[in-house]
Amino acid sequence: MSESRFVTVGRERLAYTLNRRRVKNITIRVRESGEVAVTAPTRTTIARIEEILRDKITFIRDGKEKMAKKCAAAPRPLTLCTGEVLPIFGEMHTIQVVSDARCRAGAINGVLYLAVKNPADAAERYRCFLDFLDKTARAYFPDAVARALPQFLPKPPKAPTLSYRTMKTRWGVCNYNKQKITFNRRLVFFPPHLIEYVVYHELAHFHHPNHSKDFWQFLTARMPDCQKRREALNDYKTPAFAAENK
Ligand SMILES: [Zn+2]
Repeated sequence: MSESRFVTVGRERLAYTLNRRRVKNITIRVRESGEVAVTAPTRTTIARIEEILRDKITFIRDGKEKMAKKCAAAPRPLTLCTGEVLPIFGEMHTIQVVSDARCRAGAINGVLYLAVKNPADAAERYRCFLDFLDKTARAYFPDAVARALPQFLPKPPKAPTLSYRTMKTRWGVCNYNKQKITFNRRLVFFPPHLIEYVVYHELAHFHHPNHSKDFWQFLTARMPDCQKRREALNDYKTPAFAAENK
């Protein structure tokens, strides 16, 4: 059972939650929300608990400060308003929302223009942006695949079919039976050398369907730094969008 309480420390009123448990010692934790959580043995008096809280006030203050900083550092999901920044092919772009009778979008000189009928409509801005991601992916990948393909012949014998999806956990999917590769539209955020890694990875699956030792050997022969690029891809932070969670 959890009980909300206050303790006075000097002039400060410190809020904490008290949990009574069958434990031997009192423990104090500062949660990510900044909440001070105390777990205490069933019989420990409130006076004793508050004495310990006063003793540990420096630790508690440090903890609250640390959690506040952590919270501020976490990137907030983008709402696609003017002034927000996001990477396109690894280059930071500032969003500029403009009003226009026709919905369209384009990235020019570090600015991503989103032209929408009603700039105040978050759903319309998001639709316009998804359309931009899709069009940009469709313009980019055929050439990227064509550039890489000579290294992977004779399989696939002809240019594979390309399709595009917005996926949560995968950057590409190779269906070698159907001669088809699906790319994640969100790859548009990445620098070209990391996109190139995904293109090579998927093309290599035409020769080795699984991530076997032979697969990695085959890929490394064509892209010696493929492991380095793979790690960079996994470490790269892509933007989150407020509209995604609705
Ligand atoms: Zn794979």
